[in-house]
Amino acid sequence: MTTANSPRLDGRLLTAGDPGYDAARTVWNAMIDRRPRMIVRAASVTDVVTAVRLARELDLEIGVRGGGHNVAGLAVPADGLMIDLTPLNGVRVDPIRRRARVQGGALLGALDRASQRYGLATTAGNVSHTGVGGLTLGGGMGWLARQHGLACDNVVSFRMVTADGEVVTASRTENPDLYWGLRGGGGNFGTVTEFEFQLHHTGTQTLVAEFDFRAEDAVPVLEGWRDLNAVAPRQATFTADVHSTASGPIATVGFVWVGDSAPGHRLLPAMRALGRPVAERVTTPSYLELQQRDDTTGGHAYRRYSSAHYLRQFPTAAIEAFLLRGAADLHAGAQLPGVGLQAYGGAIADVGDTDAAFSHRGTTFEFGAGSRWTEPSEDDDRMAAARSAGAALDPYADGVYVNSLAADEGQRGVRRAYPAAKLARLTALKTVWDPQNVFHLNHNIRPSHA
Ligand code: FAD
Repeated sequence: MTTANSPRLDGRLLTAGDPGYDAARTVWNAMIDRRPRMIVRAASVTDVVTAVRLARELDLEIGVRGGGHNVAGLAVPADGLMIDLTPLNGVRVDPIRRRARVQGGALLGALDRASQRYGLATTAGNVSHTGVGGLTLGGGMGWLARQHGLACDNVVSFRMVTADGEVVTASRTENPDLYWGLRGGGGNFGTVTEFEFQLHHTGTQTLVAEFDFRAEDAVPVLEGWRDLNAVAPRQATFTADVHSTASGPIATVGFVWVGDSAPGHRLLPAMRALGRPVAERVTTPSYLELQQRDDTTGGHAYRRYSSAHYLRQFPTAAIEAFLLRGAADLHAGAQLPGVGLQAYGGAIADVGDTDAAFSHRGTTFEFGAGSRWTEPSEDDDRMAAARSAGAALDPYADGVYVNSLAADEGQRGVRRAYPAAKLARLTALKTVWDPQNVFHLNHNIRPSHA
């Protein structure tokens, strides 16, 4: 029998003071500084089973670490047992069947690299050091989503360790209820040790276009950009942001195109004609370069807070809110969050709203306001600034992406992520698969009796 002192593991057990303990508990958001009682560096499915059983035997709170990128820091339990899936990072691609088997602790870059060897890819997020696990279980938005659906829409099957330490498969034919819930319901139902993904022939070409406009002139620019988005081909994912420069606030609009880039170039004149651009950048990175374009090596040093919404409509009043916040406050020189938009639609909206736990498929744009800073003394101001940027768009919001929820949004956040009927079905599923809420360090769907 396994005991706390001598669990038999293929990986390692770490406690405070062990080499590697601090590295393993360090996550993307430097505000998270929790110290687990023990960390199981799981190197096999058996290790995950052992860790779940050990935590329950010792009555320790469980945290599951995939890529550690969740801004709310949900991977790390204070004084609990962290199941660190980092060593479970393998990816096996079958180019004939166009499938990838991806272990639960793999990062997106590993999936992209292994797939692109064959000119294949599936939807993954925009930063290659994000975890496949947390991203996919919450939904998984990326540059391919308008063509091929979200990451979760491309999962053919999951292998999962339950709260009782059993290993189960979930697919359309095996445990279909669980398969429904794992596609958007987060880490609520167990620890996923393997994802089987459908891959697509995407080639390696992309096109990235960005046009800068003075923010004070940009209401018609964003109106035009919004209208172009409504008729854009699925290869294009429209983006916009507002940021500060020495010569004043700038609104950048553009798109990322994946696939044969020739038709993408035909969108450029329409973008230029939106107003009088002060600068433009048009590049053609390879798909792998695109997927690493926003990577940051020192990212873990920053304290972070973000506020997000899904928007179905982006009326002129919302555009003004998006820009006025930038123009007024950026001119005042305040320390502000970055704000941005990324388009949804296309294949994301082809999937029926009740087909998976992921919700709000009618979203047109995701809005995000994110602050990052280093000094703890700035925590309150920086968080308030991100909240206030989010509040400006609140009147136009229609739900939120569960993976964008801040730590302090609690059950209100969960209700924003899932409409009432979805939440009721998720609650029923949780009651079946994890009635004692063993897996609660997530945006928690509580079992019905809790
Ligand atoms: P972790 O913090 O390790 O885990 C997050 C949650 O998922 C925790 O509750 C954890 O317990 C659970 N979990 C993780 N792995 C497993 C598993 N195998 N089994 C069960 N539960 C698990 N999202 C997008 O959709 N698209 C993007 O382009 C995108 N870009 C991002 C870029 C950056 C720099 C960052 C910081 C985040 C980004 N996100 C994006 C958000 C991202 O989806 C979430 O932060 C997600 O939670 C990250 O997953 P993770 O495994 O890295 O995180």
